[in-house]
Amino acid sequence: MDIRPAPLVLMYHSVDHFDEDPHLVTVSPARFERQMAWLRARGLRGAGMSELLDAHAAGRSRGLVGLTFDDGYADFATRAVPALVRYGFGATVFVVSGRIGTYNAWDDGPRKPLMTGEQIRTVAAAGIEVASHGRHHVSLPETDDTELREELEESRAALEDLVEAPVTGFAYPYGHATAREVEAVRAAGYDYACDIGPEEPARHALPRTYVGDRDGPVRLRLKVVRHELRRRSRV
Ligand SMILES: [Zn+2]
Repeated sequence: MDIRPAPLVLMYHSVDHFDEDPHLVTVSPARFERQMAWLRARGLRGAGMSELLDAHAAGRSRGLVGLTFDDGYADFATRAVPALVRYGFGATVFVVSGRIGTYNAWDDGPRKPLMTGEQIRTVAAAGIEVASHGRHHVSLPETDDTELREELEESRAALEDLVEAPVTGFAYPYGHATAREVEAVRAAGYDYACDIGPEEPARHALPRTYVGDRDGPVRLRLKVVRHELRRRSRV
């Protein structure tokens, strides 16, 4: 299916208080709350990717913004979801299936706990879409064909067992994806995949807009406007 013009999708990682955040992946709870309030004040509603893509296909995605959270940090369950529920917003969380209940061992930044299986089941029950971020958070272009297939197929099977529901979405670790990985994700049966800044936006390489702690109303507005301009230039 043609995905152009691509809908607006925001990319978050962690929502928590922080002292140091070298990779700029953390948004404070107060900032996150204000960003959600800003969306609502503009008549926008946060949605998970499956809902957003279904609405997009039906020509009903106006007013919807995709909200995505990579890595599956424990603070997604304790900080982000309570705020999302208050706003009536949906979201998709991309979980690293082989690291559930541990911490972000792939990262050289501060250690952050990841959701437990119980927390993942709880957020799924609250209406959050649970999707895959691979098994071990490896850069997929560096894998051989066997490892690539395992990263894609085993992560999905593990998450489907956990939430007892189909898992249809994938997000590329580090946003690393060449044509080989995009094709492998499609061949593994995923319905869509989130990238960061793909050269060729497609259903299995969806562009996303990074949102960080420095994004107050002015910067957030700029990002939304920039997306709209890019979108129009592609039509
Ligand atoms: Zn990640």
